Amino acid sequence: MSTDSVRAVIFDLDDTLYLQQSFLDAAWHHVAEFAAQRSSVPREAWYEKLSLYSSQGSDRGGIIDRAVADLDPSQDIQLLVDRFRSFAPESLPLIDNVEDALTALHAVVPLGLITDGDVTIQRAKIAALGIAHHFDAIVISDEIGREFRKPHPAPFRAALEALGVPASHVVYVGDRPEKDVAGAASVGMRAIRVRTGEYAARESQTLPWHDVADVLEAIKVLRTYIAE
Ligand SMILES: [Mg+2]
Repeated sequence: MSTDSVRAVIFDLDDTLYLQQSFLDAAWHHVAEFAAQRSSVPREAWYEKLSLYSSQGSDRGGIIDRAVADLDPSQDIQLLVDRFRSFAPESLPLIDNVEDALTALHAVVPLGLITDGDVTIQRAKIAALGIAHHFDAIVISDEIGREFRKPHPAPFRAALEALGVPASHVVYVGDRPEKDVAGAASVGMRAIRVRTGEYAARESQTLPWHDVADVLEAIKVLRTYIAE
């Protein structure tokens, strides 16, 4: 594997810089409150059902559909989905000490961010985390097209181009082997896998350059490859 120096770093967002569960939990409370106002089912029952289906795989989809089918099939699913999509929390917690670590890293190399998902929701998360100023390039893959979500090389190429650094000198940090590690490898970048969030225990055939506990450890590893 390459031992080229590291001249730029690109991060994933969900379950890498913060735990996605913090967003989902607040979003389900928000949707539950709205649904309870429109049905005889209490807010707590909506919240419990939405949380249950969400915990079975946030990527599976149909979470709201399944909750409505169970609790009150007369509800307009689209209205509840819209309520979820427009949820913009005031703030979200970064993983501890990430703010300082990003500031220190950004003092020595340019930084990028690549994230999949609904554009409005991903923008709301970035705003609530207050992290936009750390990044010289932010790529939301759905802005290119939903079919270009990671591991598609397009968002990785877009970020590399915006940073102006060759792939062999850029490292990607993310939590999902099949999206983050595989996507980075497809454009010739090294990847550091972080074991945080929903997919922390997932086994994978795609081996990363480094496999570490969390983003802080990833940044520690990166510092040893950065000429300062
Ligand atoms: Mg992620």
